[in-house]
Amino acid sequence: MTLFDQLLGIYQRGGGDAYFGEAVTMTEHGLQAGWFAQAAGGSDALVVAALLHDIGHLLARAPDDIAEWTSDAQHELTGSRWLARQFGPEVSEPVRLHVPAKRYLCATDAGYFRTLSPASVHTLELQGGPMTLAETDAFAAERYGRDALLLRRCDDQGKVAGLKTPDLAHYRPLIERLAHG
Ligand code: FE
Repeated sequence: MTLFDQLLGIYQRGGGDAYFGEAVTMTEHGLQAGWFAQAAGGSDALVVAALLHDIGHLLARAPDDIAEWTSDAQHELTGSRWLARQFGPEVSEPVRLHVPAKRYLCATDAGYFRTLSPASVHTLELQGGPMTLAETDAFAAERYGRDALLLRRCDDQGKVAGLKTPDLAHYRPLIERLAHG
């Protein structure tokens, strides 16, 4: 099975479910994040990273109701590990860092917290809350930290009910070009 067919299967199985506490499905959320990454002038790798950033949620299913989340599911690690087998670090690393990026922005950008959805505020607690100073320094030294911040902004934007975007097939050439052999 090709990587693209595998991805289609993963999103067809679980992607139609609501994106925890938001007005869009998991698939719509990923497509919107990818769309915003493209609109923001992100690299091809960042567009693919944004598109697939929550694949960890689909690989290991968390409770459907966000109120039942008692621990962080660490979907960014599940997802980035899977993506690292298919793509280079320019795709997998921003995905691994997209949750730390939220914690970083909460610590460094006074206005950022106010833009978070209620569900995202809830998971922030489970994810460790805003970063400490030492943590923000470590994050700023990450090679793909900047990409992760851009991905994060696209992630936060990608929750618009009814927003039409290209579908997954639109990204097939991009995905196939960036995937390992
Ligand atoms: Fe997301």
